[in-house]
Amino acid sequence: MKVHGVNVFLIPSEDAHQSEYIADCDKRRAWISGFTGSAGFAIVTETAAALFTDGRYFLQASQQLDDKYWTLMKQGLPGVPTWQEYLVQNLEAGSKIGFDPTLISAVDAHQLEKQLAPLGSTLVPLEKNLVDLAWGEDRPTPPKDKVFVQPTKYTGKSVQDKLKEVHDYIEKENAYGLIISALDEIAWLFNLRGSDIDCNPVFFSYAVITEAEAYLYIDLDKITDDSVQSHLKESNVIAKPYDTFFECLRGFRFEEGKKLLVNNKTSLAVEIAVGGEANVKEEPRSFVNDCKAIKTAEELQGMRDCHLRDGAALVQYIAWLENKLLVEKAQLDEVDGADRLEQFRAAQEHYVGLSFPTISSTGPNGAIIHYQPEKGSCKTIDPAHIYLVDSGAQYLDGTTDVTRTYHFTTPTAYEKRCFTRVLQGHIAIDQAVFPKGTTGYLLDPLARQFLWQDGLNFLHGTGHGVGAFLNVHEGPHGIGIRPHYNDTPLAVGMTVTDEPGYYEDGKFGIRIENVILVKDAETPNNFGGRGYLGFEHVTMAPIGLNLIDKDLLSPSEKKWVNDYHKECLEKLSPLLSHDELAMNWLKKETTPI
Ligand code: ZN
Ligand code: ZN
Repeated sequence: MKVHGVNVFLIPSEDAHQSEYIADCDKRRAWISGFTGSAGFAIVTETAAALFTDGRYFLQASQQLDDKYWTLMKQGLPGVPTWQEYLVQNLEAGSKIGFDPTLISAVDAHQLEKQLAPLGSTLVPLEKNLVDLAWGEDRPTPPKDKVFVQPTKYTGKSVQDKLKEVHDYIEKENAYGLIISALDEIAWLFNLRGSDIDCNPVFFSYAVITEAEAYLYIDLDKITDDSVQSHLKESNVIAKPYDTFFECLRGFRFEEGKKLLVNNKTSLAVEIAVGGEANVKEEPRSFVNDCKAIKTAEELQGMRDCHLRDGAALVQYIAWLENKLLVEKAQLDEVDGADRLEQFRAAQEHYVGLSFPTISSTGPNGAIIHYQPEKGSCKTIDPAHIYLVDSGAQYLDGTTDVTRTYHFTTPTAYEKRCFTRVLQGHIAIDQAVFPKGTTGYLLDPLARQFLWQDGLNFLHGTGHGVGAFLNVHEGPHGIGIRPHYNDTPLAVGMTVTDEPGYYEDGKFGIRIENVILVKDAETPNNFGGRGYLGFEHVTMAPIGLNLIDKDLLSPSEKKWVNDYHKECLEKLSPLLSHDELAMNWLKKETTPI
């Protein structure tokens, strides 16, 4: 920092594309701090180091950070500053704050500049990332994996049709063009998939769409296959080398008054390359992300289909696990469990890989919300404790994400009560009917109301969008109390998860998660004339029967449980005829209550 003339260096979690999951070469925050969770922000000053993360990671971060050097800042707790507030409150006036401008959005940078101005502190974009310099030769090289075409039979829309919508949008906005840096948006727009980032079928790239043309900036070695070459040609896409992107931006000559459209996630480096704020128009939201959120009929069908295969694999696994633990009295650790589940998934048609690392957790580990078991340090699965498994996969026809919580022996009355409160919230979201225009922000309390009655709560969102053979977490919508969830009404064709939970540190974790699709609801009236919406669940896997406290459920909630289990039995049986153990378990676990 001294050599580069700064007093502070900022280390966000994201890569240059603001990705949530990142390639090994971009895991700078994990390298410098030791904290490996997916969300966090590190600040290193001349005398201190602070790591900011949210409720999902408090426990994990406190275990992984070396408190000799690092202070954990628990985001969301009263009195704990955000990383921006920390810079304002803790730094001496006139501080120079260094950062890599490809890793911070222009919006965040400008906002921070304003907050720092009264103190005389300034932001200093650095050419070189100081963490990379320190990491040196040990830093992994960027991936070089080939990309492949995602056919229209799965996407339901050709690249030409998607590009036409973007060209029309650019014309409507009277702009010069649109810059896209989010990897899932580029994969979606060009009907291409890759494997540069574990669990996310995306590839490193940027795109610039002008009124008439479409440029894809990508390592050209990744697109040498004939099928990809002819796909790009048919779609009138011009491919250019990835590392010429910023140089190309610097070369753009704008017509009088025309600007480049960017969104609130576009990096400051992009804005600097096109000649500064005067040449860009920051759209409050991403047009391509909004288009991507509304799935086509083919994508929705793919989601239904892949969830059946995924449910069958999960049933096989839980049946296998219960038999191992109770009948064979086997000693299995959490990683053994996760690996066996992956094998059952890998045997399914159209399987590509996991959609995120499997959370296989016994007892107290279930309370670590994004727990990742590792050989050596993980626990043996104890049938006397609650077992929570949150997992999912990528299939050519869709992406899955499911959480189930089971107890293989006898749960306590308290565990049953907590589980049932979570289940009631899950059912309330699944059954919700609401007028068009309603956001997931407004639906969120439905998932918490029963826990609240018992003075309980959970510190994560209730649901997130899910990609169609794309990232397992996608926006712009979701169900939760993050303010931006109130910016996007739920709409027909969206996917979202329904995943309330409850966690007690040191004891257990409970979560019940299905993927649900937004659809039109049939209502006897139509007040306001705007139409009403509801959900269709596509995840099929029994919900732990012995954890349900029947006396707590209303007659309609009991009916929901029985109907859901009947549906699981009917839809999964044809896929499980070859596995007697799984079939028997499925029948047992779908017995009406
Ligand atoms: Zn999940
Ligand atoms: Zn989820």
